[in-house]
Amino acid sequence: MKAEIFSVGTEILLGEILDTNAKHIANELANMGIDVFYKTSVGDNENRLLDAIDIAYKRADIIISTGGLGPTDDDLTKETFAKYFNKKLVTHQESLQNLKSYFLNEDMPLSNLKQADMPEGSIVLLNENGTASGCVIQENNKIAVILPGPPNECIPMFEKQVKPILEKYTNKVLVSKSLNLCGIGESKASEIIKDMMLSSKNPTIAPYAGNNEMRFRVTASGKTKEEAKEILKPTVDNLYEIFKEYIYGEDNDTLQEVIVNKLIKNNMTISTAESCTGGLLASTIINVASASKVFLNGVISYSNESKIYELNVCKEDLEKYGAVSEQVAIQMAEGIRKKSNTTIGISTTGIAGPTGGTNEKPVGLVYIAIAINGKDTICKKLMLKGDRQKIREKTVHICFSNLLKLV
Ligand code: AMP
Ligand code: MG
Repeated sequence: MKAEIFSVGTEILLGEILDTNAKHIANELANMGIDVFYKTSVGDNENRLLDAIDIAYKRADIIISTGGLGPTDDDLTKETFAKYFNKKLVTHQESLQNLKSYFLNEDMPLSNLKQADMPEGSIVLLNENGTASGCVIQENNKIAVILPGPPNECIPMFEKQVKPILEKYTNKVLVSKSLNLCGIGESKASEIIKDMMLSSKNPTIAPYAGNNEMRFRVTASGKTKEEAKEILKPTVDNLYEIFKEYIYGEDNDTLQEVIVNKLIKNNMTISTAESCTGGLLASTIINVASASKVFLNGVISYSNESKIYELNVCKEDLEKYGAVSEQVAIQMAEGIRKKSNTTIGISTTGIAGPTGGTNEKPVGLVYIAIAINGKDTICKKLMLKGDRQKIREKTVHICFSNLLKLV
């Protein structure tokens, strides 16, 4: 099976946006064992799109296009595919209903109506996240898949609706599991299982470096889902055994979710006192849906005065050791914990740059402290690299990876 990916949109050719849809789809097709020999980027232009479809149709079995399904005149992907395959466009009632439900509170511009017109005889892919339905045109044992451009619409549609169709063409069912690790880098983790990754063909093991963390994605193929799951299991178990101290979750689990859920389970509460992270730590916790059960209070304590009045940090210590110091970090964590009456108080104080660094206290120097009721307060000195935002993000991540071991 050979597939060709089409990214339709003049903005891609002008370099205005990154073609992240094609990246995602190419990656998934590779995992499915579907070859991609060509990717095409083409502008919103009927003649050039017709030419590109013709070339792709002759050399590939599957064409997957994204983009150009919007309501305006320059969105012409669906119309052009319909023209190439000689299909009429007909109103698809469910798509029309879906479209109307998006405009419940405002008048729908008439131009949107064309988003419910689909090539006759195609499989329609309803859009859960937007107004443009996608579709699959089947012709002479070949298929063209037409997806919307916005990644939050295109990728769920591909994952949920297109993959099962492609699986029928490949006669293979794929099952994947991601193991999410923190506290170990991609290169170190990959080195440990280098031989295993090289020799394992089914399942495959692929490392992915994320923001401050990494994951291993294990993918097995079988004739049925059950068979694929069975093939997957021993490798997943093996990885759990090797990386047990680093694996914090699976698939879409995030570190903050895992921590919030552990706090809930263990009946613990938390409060934050942030200097250099300026609320990022609290905000990341609060992003987890059930955070209100555990997160009670957060203070952004940026000035020395605020550290004294809000967190009860000792004025003399602030003067003697400075705001970015172990002593102050500890007092901030203990101060917020007492003030908020929580099980845990956590603090950050550091120099995120780009200015403000000295020889003694350079940019990237950060202290985090975690005070837990009835235990000794823990403080970590970090030397972080990167710009202001990176330093703040890394600090938050390290707060979480330390919390993980304590809750
Ligand atoms: P379109 O449906 O072509 O008008 O695309 C709507 C929006 O989706 C564009 O303005 C982009 O922000 C985004 N988009 C379109 N194609 C892609 C792509 N291949 N990768 C990432 N984003 C895209
Ligand atoms: Mg466009």
